[in-house]
Amino acid sequence: MSKAISSNLGYPRIGGNREWKRALERFWSGKQSEESFLKEIEQLRLGLLQKQKEHGIELIPVGDFSLYDHVLDTSVMFGIIPERFKKANGEVSLQDYFAIARGSKGAVASSMTKWFNTNYHYIVPELQNATPKLTHNRPLTYYREAKEKLGINGKPVFLGPITFLKLAKGYEEEQFDKLLDQFLPLYETILQELEQEGAEWVQIDEPILATSILPDDLQRFERVYQRLNIAAPNLNLLLQTYFESVGYYEEIIDLPVQGIGLDFVLDEGENLASLRRFGFPDDKVLAAGVIDGRNVWRANLKDKTALLAKIKESVPAERLIVQPSTSLLHVPVTVKSETALDPLLKDGLAFADEKLLEVQVLTKWLNLGDKAVVKEINDSAAKIDKLNQSSSRNVASVQNAVNNLQEYRADRQSPFKDRQKLQEKRFNLPVLPSTSIGSLPQTSEVRKARQSWRKGEWNEEQYEGYVKNQIVKWIDIQEQIGLDVLIHGEFERNDMVEYFGEKLGGFATTKNAWVQSYGSRCVKPPLVYGDVHFLEPMTVKESVFAQSLTNKPVKGMLTGPVTILNWSFVSDHIKKQDVLYQIALALREEVETLEENNIQMIQVDEPALREGLPLKRSKWDDYLSTAVYAFKLATASVQDETQIHTHMCYSEFQDIIDAINDLDADVIAIEAALSHGELIATFENKVYDKGIGLGVYDIHSPRIPEKTEVITTINRALQVLDPKLFWINPDCGLKTRTEEEAIPALEVMVNAAREVREQL
Ligand code: GLN
Ligand code: ZN
Repeated sequence: MSKAISSNLGYPRIGGNREWKRALERFWSGKQSEESFLKEIEQLRLGLLQKQKEHGIELIPVGDFSLYDHVLDTSVMFGIIPERFKKANGEVSLQDYFAIARGSKGAVASSMTKWFNTNYHYIVPELQNATPKLTHNRPLTYYREAKEKLGINGKPVFLGPITFLKLAKGYEEEQFDKLLDQFLPLYETILQELEQEGAEWVQIDEPILATSILPDDLQRFERVYQRLNIAAPNLNLLLQTYFESVGYYEEIIDLPVQGIGLDFVLDEGENLASLRRFGFPDDKVLAAGVIDGRNVWRANLKDKTALLAKIKESVPAERLIVQPSTSLLHVPVTVKSETALDPLLKDGLAFADEKLLEVQVLTKWLNLGDKAVVKEINDSAAKIDKLNQSSSRNVASVQNAVNNLQEYRADRQSPFKDRQKLQEKRFNLPVLPSTSIGSLPQTSEVRKARQSWRKGEWNEEQYEGYVKNQIVKWIDIQEQIGLDVLIHGEFERNDMVEYFGEKLGGFATTKNAWVQSYGSRCVKPPLVYGDVHFLEPMTVKESVFAQSLTNKPVKGMLTGPVTILNWSFVSDHIKKQDVLYQIALALREEVETLEENNIQMIQVDEPALREGLPLKRSKWDDYLSTAVYAFKLATASVQDETQIHTHMCYSEFQDIIDAINDLDADVIAIEAALSHGELIATFENKVYDKGIGLGVYDIHSPRIPEKTEVITTINRALQVLDPKLFWINPDCGLKTRTEEEAIPALEVMVNAAREVREQL
């Protein structure tokens, strides 16, 4: 390279108006033919590449685009198809591809789990009896496409072999190296073909390097990259890491590749410290991730040039690639669509497109110096300064409360055993009580009603009346089904975090700031831009109304502080931990208000607790104790008779059971179906001594479970958990299901519970 160049690691797939999601769902529902679907998708994909070019990116990623998930793409490319989806002729149709992800009539979907510490979910590769083969060279296909159709000499992006295997399941640790040997020749072929085609750079993602890897793994990296480097000597391999600093800096920068990508945003500068301490090899390019790829705030370009100046002391500009710290998959597309935001706040934001422009400015700065970009740099600093001075970031009462947390009791009055007796008396539930997680089908009718209200076509009263009717209808349905503990159904909520974002002070919600969560499902995380505070009751009206309709307990339903924090875009002007406590104190007021209004069970969901864990184990204790404290701050002020529930899902909980126990919730409902029994086994040697329901069926598939299946799952759980403490519930909320799916599934569940109950 003769100068610094700008690059990107990955770009949102969903399109500025979620065209991607719409196309997928049209295709799935059978409303669009495969041919026209693929045409539409191709246009979208090319448009995204073109846009990156227009935003000044020189090294544009290709192949990061996906029809569902990039890990699933990797599996399918290597012919890793779970047995139950295999066809006799060995072919994998588009339908099969989606079936692996979503399940089909005859077969359950592959597990899905969180992509490192993000809210993106990937499809877990199943390697049982796998014989990997290269079914098609995916990176090559997209490299060619960009070159032929747009004249872009792209940078193919794909998952490296070690991370891929680490994310997979279905093999024993001893088999790792043997498996690796089966994949290596396939990777060699991919690289050789790309080399022949004229590719200059490839980005091989190995985010596993930011986790606590072992010396064994390090040796594997040496072995693997040695071979890949020899296989394609004229291709530049960029080994890309992200999400945290790398644990073995000195060893990693010495790996036989031509470029190393490091995250310089997270971790308070650990990678930078290593760079300054150990230097960087003269024969390599450093891809410096200096723009935050995980957050939506405008970068203070003054600070960023200072950061680059430090980096430049170790690596000259002509060996630097400037880029975001991670793929931009995790941020929305453009701030331009946010026409309704307060300009002060809007000026403080940068989504994917604006981040690319920041990358462009910083690259110019490296190559041409201050003068070329002085206006952009000063402008960014001024805008951020103005927002920092605003009243929303200086709410004295909130800041005082967080500075005096000792004034808030964060433990229940009595230990669980004593509370349990009081609660048993109060609720008088049967053994194996049945309940559900919170949301009920958000039908198109429900969403339409909300839209009419948002657009002003319906007034407040009409909308409220509609929600009330839904609640009436579903309280009745739940009573008919015979559930023991009911829910109001969350019909008034668009999303479990955004809803609270709309009601809490210090939050703003956006019009169009969507990001992909899993498959076609997108979420619109709210923005925490100021000090967070309680304004008025947020959930009381609906809960009280629902409870007035039935003698059975109806759970109040809140999203917990850790989840609200993790699923929002949180301003970086104050410490994350302080924002967490601000949220916890606001929720505490809501919990107290529910209790005052005679809501006797209150569920505070924390599905994001696990995913927020730092990647390195050494940082876990700090994170978990803060998270547990925040949960208790939000929930512990209630009376002993009030039953606190919580819920968690779509994560591996095996190694944080103790922390979950420490939350001191009276009941936890936890997802278990997707881990195919692995979670249940955990309790063979872990004591969990409070109420617990392990999800007994998978809600993310449209399939209605068989009663015998559910009974087997319950019985299996009862071998390791105390029947007196066991609850029966689905894996997660039923929001994405239709009524025709939800009702019979709940009936099956309740009947299964009855049958097991009778045998006890
Ligand atoms: N109460 C929420 C619901 O039922 C929980 C959702 C979640 O855990 N992701 O939808
Ligand atoms: Zn859930």
